[in-house]
Amino acid sequence: MNYSDTEIVLSVLSDSGYNETSDIQDSDVILLNTCSIRENAEHKVYKRLDDLKKYKKANPELVVGILGCMAERLRKDLLDKKKIVDVIVGPDEYRKVPELIDNAIDNGEKGIAVKLSRIETYDDIVPLRREGTTAWISIMRGCDKFCTFCVVPFTRGRERSRRLTNIVDEAKKLHDEGVRDIWLLGQNVNSYKFEDHDFPDLLKSVALAVPDMRLRYTTSHPYDLSTKLLETMAEYDNICKYIHLPIQSGSDTVLKSMNRLYSVSHYMDVMLKSREMMPTIGLSTDIISCFPGETEEDHKMTLDVVKNVRYDLAYTFVYSPRENTKAFQMKDDIDGDTKKRRLEEIITLQREISTEIYKSLIGTTQRVLIESRSKKSEDFFMARTDCNKVAIVPKEILYVNETGELINKKCFKVGDMIDVRIDRANSATLFGEPVVH
Ligand code: SAH
Ligand code: SF4
Repeated sequence: MNYSDTEIVLSVLSDSGYNETSDIQDSDVILLNTCSIRENAEHKVYKRLDDLKKYKKANPELVVGILGCMAERLRKDLLDKKKIVDVIVGPDEYRKVPELIDNAIDNGEKGIAVKLSRIETYDDIVPLRREGTTAWISIMRGCDKFCTFCVVPFTRGRERSRRLTNIVDEAKKLHDEGVRDIWLLGQNVNSYKFEDHDFPDLLKSVALAVPDMRLRYTTSHPYDLSTKLLETMAEYDNICKYIHLPIQSGSDTVLKSMNRLYSVSHYMDVMLKSREMMPTIGLSTDIISCFPGETEEDHKMTLDVVKNVRYDLAYTFVYSPRENTKAFQMKDDIDGDTKKRRLEEIITLQREISTEIYKSLIGTTQRVLIESRSKKSEDFFMARTDCNKVAIVPKEILYVNETGELINKKCFKVGDMIDVRIDRANSATLFGEPVVH
């Protein structure tokens, strides 16, 4: 979501004559787009602000800004306590960023804009994206679910959705620009509502408008993931068979205390139905360990869900108390050692399961989309299967004769969709050789 928001801010800034530089020493303005979801995320920003002090010292005219959820949450506090911050802009006020920067540059004034809006969706702003095969389209903003641990409803405000036709047009435009993989984004995409259209309607419209585009979405809430959505996913080949569905806890008592609005059995029904309808589906989840009051029994129930669902991947976090939330009033009553152990137990179990699942694909052929250069090697690409598994593939195949002489070669490029025979795997990555037909 923050990547996507940054593209909106870049677009707004570019319209006002600002250019992006890749050299931090050369910048007149440095903006940090921030996240408040866990304490850790905020620590990173504080650390980053400390790192920026040297640039401000070298160039006192430098404007430093904090955007996003931390701006919303901490507001004036940041201006008062962090002297190097000049500009603070919350998630619904990005249109004001240029004006506030201009004001800081021209008059040396500090500026703050943190009003939340019931209507702002930046629907008319074309995000300034980096070139690539993958793009995000934000379809809705805010969240009305008020899970008791979560700061999002406070930092991002009420739910509102973009016009369906504008999202479809954006997808078509991205297709013309060479994008081959789109993620539809929202805090809870199932809450998408524009006039009479719900999320499955939107997904279907985009799938039909760009039939050779891979489509994915995130995040879906288990409470309102409908059968209609699963049917739509199953019906269209270009909708990726992948669902990220955060369970948070395997205990009904904890789920109730989290105000998650579903039971474990409802969640398991959704998982079962999705596998029945799409047998190869990739499944991932988020888990919060050690929510206030979580007992050893509750923790074991979470491990049971992990065992029973057999996710491809789980993002696991220790509960982090967030001011303003309901859970902040509850006693964070689990000791540090227990927190460490429970988290480790979930991670270890999930890693074993992921390894088994990934290794079971050795010897199969998977269709992958090449997304980018591999981070670890110049000679390889990072590609992804329909079910969201990362595969590392060589950039070219060399054909040699019996004497070892090169007789031909086939090169691939970002954006190619190719078949890959998997010959190796670990808990998070597949490795293979392209199959040339
Ligand atoms: N809207 C999404 C989640 C967005 S936040 C959803 O409901 O699924 C991403 C994840 O961060 C959450 O799924 C949750 O697992 C985690 N998270 C949110 N608040 C947290 C907190 N206070 N402590 C620890 N993890 C938290
Ligand atoms: Fe936070 Fe819950 Fe909304 Fe997700 S659904 S953003 S966890 S309040």
